Amino acid sequence: MFSYAPPLARLIEELSKLPTVGPKTAQRLAFYMLSMTPQDAEALATAILEAKSRIRNCSVCGNITEADPCVICTNPQRNQSVICVVEDPRDVAAMERTREFAGLYHVLQGAISPLDGVGPDDLRIDELVKRVTAGEVREVIVATNPRVEGEATALYLSKVLKPLGVRVTRIAHGLPVGGDLEYADEVTLARALEGRRDL
Ligand code: ZN
Repeated sequence: MFSYAPPLARLIEELSKLPTVGPKTAQRLAFYMLSMTPQDAEALATAILEAKSRIRNCSVCGNITEADPCVICTNPQRNQSVICVVEDPRDVAAMERTREFAGLYHVLQGAISPLDGVGPDDLRIDELVKRVTAGEVREVIVATNPRVEGEATALYLSKVLKPLGVRVTRIAHGLPVGGDLEYADEVTLARALEGRRDL
């Protein structure tokens, strides 16, 4: 049976571990990389390693960042009394693109999903409760995805947070049900934020 020389076979194997990359694409990418200049190949390898070693999660909000705490958490211009709760760092990027939100964020790192074995303890909910308990926060906007898991998470959060005397709101559903915040256009997301209701 034909097989590529080990270094190339290894490159193809590593590339095929990437999401949406099947064996054929992996092979195509690997051959492309072989044709790159040594400088370009090194720049790509270095970019991967540097992103890996320099990007971490903000210890306050959980968003990805190079500096900890992140530039949003440490920005005195941002409204410290509102926290927008999202599932994923990519959702922070989506919200930021709307330019409609000037408060702080809290990234849960997922949503409650009993079928996948994800419970409240697996998410950064304790950290959120601590932030709310610490004072200053007057409103928590729950911007989890409009799916079963996101809704379950929103309900859970409202149960946990309301007794702390904070206003808990949910972004409106101009968003497609079953969709991802990440893929919503800025206008839809901005409207959803505007039309939030109390939970
Ligand atoms: Zn942060």
